[in-house]
Amino acid sequence: MHEALPYRTLAPWLEARFGGPVHRVALDAGSSCPNRDGTKGFGGCTYCDVEGSGTGALKSGLELARQLDEGLARVARRGPGVRAIAYLQSYSNTYVPLERLSEVLGVLEPWIERPDAPLAALSIATRPDTLPDESLRLLEELGRRIEVWVELGLESASDEVQRRIRRFHTLADFHDAARRVRQAGLVCIAHAILGLPGDGREGARATALELARAGVEGVKVHQLMVLKRTQLARDWRAGALELLDEPTYVEWLADFVERLAPEQVLHRLTGDADADALLAPLPAFDKSRVRAALARELDRRGTRQSSAR
Ligand code: SF4
Repeated sequence: MHEALPYRTLAPWLEARFGGPVHRVALDAGSSCPNRDGTKGFGGCTYCDVEGSGTGALKSGLELARQLDEGLARVARRGPGVRAIAYLQSYSNTYVPLERLSEVLGVLEPWIERPDAPLAALSIATRPDTLPDESLRLLEELGRRIEVWVELGLESASDEVQRRIRRFHTLADFHDAARRVRQAGLVCIAHAILGLPGDGREGARATALELARAGVEGVKVHQLMVLKRTQLARDWRAGALELLDEPTYVEWLADFVERLAPEQVLHRLTGDADADALLAPLPAFDKSRVRAALARELDRRGTRQSSAR
């Protein structure tokens, strides 16, 4: 934990792991998602913005390679020794046939094991219920040559809330996927949202306890946001949705952090969205202000990360 802060932040962890600065290169593989193609549902999770989750148009290996080349060139311009994490963020990136996943991962090949090692890691985001063993094996093989992070969306530990937000996977799915990722020797990072409908402050606390129980190395947490062109936007316009304001979010976030394990690294504490896509809460939360307010709140309580476990 950083001496000055009562919670573990990403920058010192990255520094210790990679020996220098690393920056993300976002790659859109154009994958899909079982909540959009009808396998589990249509229309996506109620908070998910179609555009915000990627294009959904399958990218050729060539297009992906171009995204990576351009991203690595941008990172290289930051200075000598600055490295990159290739980040497959949008949609469920392992929800594709094995050959397709192999093609996507193959795009990294020219950059692995180069003497100048511009690529530090791959981070691949997916749903806990779309990570078959054979896909995990491919990632495990890659993980012997370059660090691989698997990012799993949990969002809430409550199965009832999962149904309500039309996510349609379970806490058991999450624990199973997190266990298999860790068994494969890969870094596991989980996502949580505070303030989901029906989840409440107790839900935030329960989600943190489950993330601690799963033993994931990293946690990304953010406030519920209402984006245009989502199902949630309709509820919000109808006045049927309560959102956390920034001070309340900080209080819930403090509860959440108090229940994480001491070694878990907080990769993110707030969400952000394009100004023209964000309907609420407005004004948008300020990342630095939330970070500072969280430290103050924990100090005021005389607690720190993992105090309440
Ligand atoms: S949030 Fe993820 S799982 Fe939900 S609809 Fe969007 S892409 Fe699919």
